[in-house]
Amino acid sequence: MKINKIAILGYPISHSLSPVIHNYWLKELHINGKYEAIKTPINYFKKTIEKLYKKGYKGLNLTIPLKEEALKYLNNKDKIVDTIGATNVLVFSKQGLIEGKNTDVYGFKKSLTKLVKRKKREMAIIIGSGGAARAVLYALIEMKYKEVILFNRTRKNAERVKKKFLKNFISNLKTEIVCNDLKNIKKNLEQTDLLINTTPMGMKGFPILNIDVKKLKKNSAVFDLIYNPLETKLIKDSKKRGIKNINGLDMLLYQAQQSFYYWLNKTPKITKKLKKILEKEIK
Ligand code: NAP
Repeated sequence: MKINKIAILGYPISHSLSPVIHNYWLKELHINGKYEAIKTPINYFKKTIEKLYKKGYKGLNLTIPLKEEALKYLNNKDKIVDTIGATNVLVFSKQGLIEGKNTDVYGFKKSLTKLVKRKKREMAIIIGSGGAARAVLYALIEMKYKEVILFNRTRKNAERVKKKFLKNFISNLKTEIVCNDLKNIKKNLEQTDLLINTTPMGMKGFPILNIDVKKLKKNSAVFDLIYNPLETKLIKDSKKRGIKNINGLDMLLYQAQQSFYYWLNKTPKITKKLKKILEKEIK
């Protein structure tokens, strides 16, 4: 019987939770398949995808540092991938084509809907301007936020993102995008309805992200894309102040769910049991 082979490529890759998630789903759905993690430095990327394609892989997930590099090898990309400039899912077609998708937008949107139920979507702050920030910005535009401020360490990177979004959305853009230096963030905290960290700050092995959550409105919400640790300082401080918050674990699961669908045409379930398994892996 044919085995459905899928893998995640990246460097480093050993700490990826994706094999745990996808192998769990393959088993649950009784699909004969295998999901591996393959250590792939950027200079081995082209050779690796060619080899895996020849071996009959269904597709791949991509992580740091390959999400942008992969754009060079795509035969098809949708508007999301084009605007964001990053792909985290490759689908190999029978005709020998490589299709690039981005499921971080879906992942973010689904978990944000769990966090913010009300319809009021005025102002959001995104910390960072990398691949994850661009996926978040795309989702917030689709959700019709009125204003999004990108606070980034390197302001010109944020300006570059804004330029690309303005070009790709043309007249359809109803969201005002503003760029600023991360060091100026304090002044805007009082006005925001939603604060999102998309930088690795706060992640295991990285410096913490210092945000004065006392400045945030009590009815605002905080989304930290980091899931290792499960509770960053930002999440802990938000909890203490009684501000609604969410870490990046649900986003990771939802992006995986849509990836699985693209390869195998089945939508696996995100269950409490699976979340518990992942939380245990992280701890
Ligand atoms: P990336 O493309 O490398 O972007 C990193 C961003 O963080 C850039 O804006 C960078 O600013 C900023 N940054 C990095 N180190 C910083 C520091 N020490 N101080 C201030 N700013 C700093 O990375 P990415 O792919 O967007 O990923 C970012 C984070 O999101 C990672 O922790 C990743 O694990 C997480 N993530 C989570 C999910 C999920 O499903 N939960 C999905 C995707 C990503 P400059 O422009 O100045 O370099």
